[in-house]
Amino acid sequence: MLRFAPSPTGDMHIGNLRVAILNYIIAKQMGVEFLVRIEDTDKARNIEGKDEEIMQLLEKFALIKDLTYHQSEHLHIHQTFAIRLLEEKKAFVCICSDEELSSDRDDAKSKSIAYRYSGKCENLTHEDYQKLKEEKIPFVIRLKKPIEPIINHDVIKGDISTAPNEIDSFVILRTDGTPTYNFACASDDMISDISMIIRGEDHLSNTPKQIHIKNLLGYTQVVKYAHLPIILNDNGKKMSKRDEASSVKWLLIEGFIPDAIINYLILLGNSKTPKEIFTLPDAIEWFKLEDISKSSARFDIDKLRFINREHLKMMDERKLSTIFGFADANIGKLAKLYLEESSTIKELEEKLKSIFKAKDFSSNEWIEQINTLREIIGSLDMIEDYNSFKNTISKMSGLKGKNLFKPLRLLLTGAEHGPELSEVYPFIKPYLLEIIS
Ligand code: GLU
Repeated sequence: MLRFAPSPTGDMHIGNLRVAILNYIIAKQMGVEFLVRIEDTDKARNIEGKDEEIMQLLEKFALIKDLTYHQSEHLHIHQTFAIRLLEEKKAFVCICSDEELSSDRDDAKSKSIAYRYSGKCENLTHEDYQKLKEEKIPFVIRLKKPIEPIINHDVIKGDISTAPNEIDSFVILRTDGTPTYNFACASDDMISDISMIIRGEDHLSNTPKQIHIKNLLGYTQVVKYAHLPIILNDNGKKMSKRDEASSVKWLLIEGFIPDAIINYLILLGNSKTPKEIFTLPDAIEWFKLEDISKSSARFDIDKLRFINREHLKMMDERKLSTIFGFADANIGKLAKLYLEESSTIKELEEKLKSIFKAKDFSSNEWIEQINTLREIIGSLDMIEDYNSFKNTISKMSGLKGKNLFKPLRLLLTGAEHGPELSEVYPFIKPYLLEIIS
């Protein structure tokens, strides 16, 4: 099984969406299930409703899950695992006070060396744990550090070996009995039998700890890891919440469509795709994690705009119409005429609004001609073909050339420039009276 394990702590970041897409693709390629695990154990950082929002977004992107659960549902399992490790002497209770620990940290800092746990409580036993519990003395549970280095054969980053000292004897269960992030994550990956873990490289330093946890819990399956390079903004810095384009919700509001966002995120840092414009089912045919570059990729909104435009061109006209609230395929066809000058749903919507909104020409230099044309068009029966329409109103108004086309374009589209009126006309003719009113 593969999994996407988001924390419900904020708006979904494009980096998270990329992780979800790639896990989904590989799960499909391997023919295994795709789990969505909401990592909600950090109560202080959880934001109410974000879990639902994540689920809805995944649905919008057609990343269909086979299974889902909230990590907090497994609290009792995490606690049972921690106690088992204690009984097996693979973990120990620690009663070092916050003061002691922070003084050790300060000490390490002043010596410019990395802080490591002193090992003071290492010999406390399961019996000590029983006593501490009876006497209600607060304690944490720490995992004993490994004896051998831990090796991660990362699909993208290559082999990474981490020394026991670097892993250290770290806390797995806090004083309030809740698991730490690494412990909850590794335990759940083991329970769900996750065979491959694809995630952002910000988790690279967690990996040896999580491998160590699974080793001590007796898990023997070989798990593959792939850590994706981070996404950089225009300034070459990690894309953060402050970059609005990092929010999937923002991109959707701006009128980027899911198919295009998926296409762009699969292309990111991947120069070996057989084509530039493709769909998710296409990518499942040929995508290879090994083709992702080791180095970070820069987010390029212009490239996304280009890809969005290409997907809008390919979109079924009726489907495009429904996005704008019309059932009639003509509106989708009309919108597509504007793809020369627009790249997003939002921009196309502006163009359509300009056509359909009530237009105020009171201070326009062409007001007189516009009024004449409005009256003539209002009195006509619908004329099928643009040339006959144009000839009829030219004859009736006595207007020609620029004096006809400038005010006519303004009246019909609300804009001075745009696609040829002969191309626009077939799609707007059923709505002429509404448009000129
Ligand atoms: N919950 C973590 C996050 O949102 C992901 C953990 C993981 O994929 O292992 O960054």
